Amino acid sequence: MQKFKFLINNEWVDASSGKTYQVLDPSKNEPIAEVALADKEDVDRAVKAAREAFNKGVWSELDGDERAEYMLKAAELMRKRTKELAKWETLECGKPISESEDIDMPYSIRAMEYFANQAREIKGEVIPIPGGYAFDYVTYEPYGVVGSIVPWNFPLHLATRTLCPAVATGNSVVLKPSSFTPITAILLGEIILEAGFPPGVVNIISGPGDTAGNAMLSHPDINMISFTGSLEVGRKVLEASAKPRIKKVILELGGKGPFIAEADCNIDGAVNSLIVGFCLEQGEVCCASTRLFLHEKIYKEFMEKLVARAKSLKLGETMDPTTQMGALISRTQLEKVDGCVKEAIRDGAKLVCGGEKLNVSPFNKGNYYKPTILENVTNDMRCAQEEIFGPVLVVIRYKELEEAIKQANDTVYGLAATIWSENIKTLYWAAKKLDAGTVWMNTNVMSKIEAPYGGNKDSGLGREDGTIGLKEYLKVKNNILFVGKEYDNFYDFK
Ligand code: NAD
Repeated sequence: MQKFKFLINNEWVDASSGKTYQVLDPSKNEPIAEVALADKEDVDRAVKAAREAFNKGVWSELDGDERAEYMLKAAELMRKRTKELAKWETLECGKPISESEDIDMPYSIRAMEYFANQAREIKGEVIPIPGGYAFDYVTYEPYGVVGSIVPWNFPLHLATRTLCPAVATGNSVVLKPSSFTPITAILLGEIILEAGFPPGVVNIISGPGDTAGNAMLSHPDINMISFTGSLEVGRKVLEASAKPRIKKVILELGGKGPFIAEADCNIDGAVNSLIVGFCLEQGEVCCASTRLFLHEKIYKEFMEKLVARAKSLKLGETMDPTTQMGALISRTQLEKVDGCVKEAIRDGAKLVCGGEKLNVSPFNKGNYYKPTILENVTNDMRCAQEEIFGPVLVVIRYKELEEAIKQANDTVYGLAATIWSENIKTLYWAAKKLDAGTVWMNTNVMSKIEAPYGGNKDSGLGREDGTIGLKEYLKVKNNILFVGKEYDNFYDFK
């Protein structure tokens, strides 16, 4: 079995405790690799290396152009190793190989390239001051050491989404992937090394959230935390990051995405995009469309087409390029999803399809769950309010768009929302009223590294991606230079 260590200060090291753990393939629940297991001491080592790199200025004081060159080299190496990275992504995450190759890898490489070029573009601003006695200019500076904590559903994409803007802006980074999926992040470490990044700029450790992750939150030498994960842990992150010193925090948390299908929508297109919305990555997607608000006039036709598509999806061997859905991340997650569906049925929902594990050999060894649709659901039921994080869609029938929008917004989450209609005015006004960080109109689950991504309400704080996301990794300094002729006359303190 392949063994993986941590990257600290450009060296491959074992955990201080010497401990390791096994990473499982969710499609078989068999071990695929042995990885060093970080604890607080390893976090301290990684942060020390990152701090020294930052303070020496070996990265933070380079020209943006120079940082860009290292990052472009890394992107080129990622491209060369795409097949290998995609294979590991599928092995550790349980997603179909076609998703790893067609979504995760292109997004991750694009992040490296896009933010490399953004490193050249970091500019300040000049503020006009009335009277002309002061030259006021604003500069953007790196925070110092950024701690990036990411989950398991898009391991390399989410790792690069935070690591790339962090280093493009001159910060040093300690990256902690989920302990379920550390391998592609560690392979990224090999790429960073080969691309020639100076020691300590990027450090990668793997370990459980409540020990290694928690040690990062309260570390006095980390200046900023970029956290992607669940709402429950996000709350802890916000609290723990306030001590012993206040840290800048970005939170990218969960969602319960509404999908509104108006009576005049293109039904085939909408069905297609909704299937992606709740079945991509086995439904383990933060911005998944998991609540369908379906206009009563098209209810029957829409449901027939939707159910037929859901039943036709191919679950199976994750390395088979024709497989459309793989396995959930763990047995625990599988049982959680199944439990949520059973509870919804007890609460009065009607099971339209799915609602069960894939109980055929050899897939019964893995964590497979069939695409599941529940109707007769009301928006106040738990299955309509809580993030299930599996391929489960609840359907709510409506008559008036205003009522659908009201219910769509009636959740603690506000990550993404979708609406389909052929009327541009309907789309425009609905988008204005939907309380979400992203609104998709006649498309779905489309996010681009160039555009800001993040949530309203309990779905998070701040934004990743695009130039708006880049600025999250920079602190603002206002600089005021007195250029008037007679300083004394201005400040009359005599
Ligand atoms: P999680 O919150 O359990 O874990 C996320 C990361 O936090 C992991 O690296 C984990 O080890 C770490 N962690 C756990 N407990 C910690 C603690 N006490 N202190 C510090 N770190 C800790 O989430 P998950 O199960 O890995 O991922 C699924 C969740 O992530 C879902 O809620 C999903 O919606 C969300 N998500 C959000 C986005 C987004 O962009 N908004 C993207 C992907 C996933």
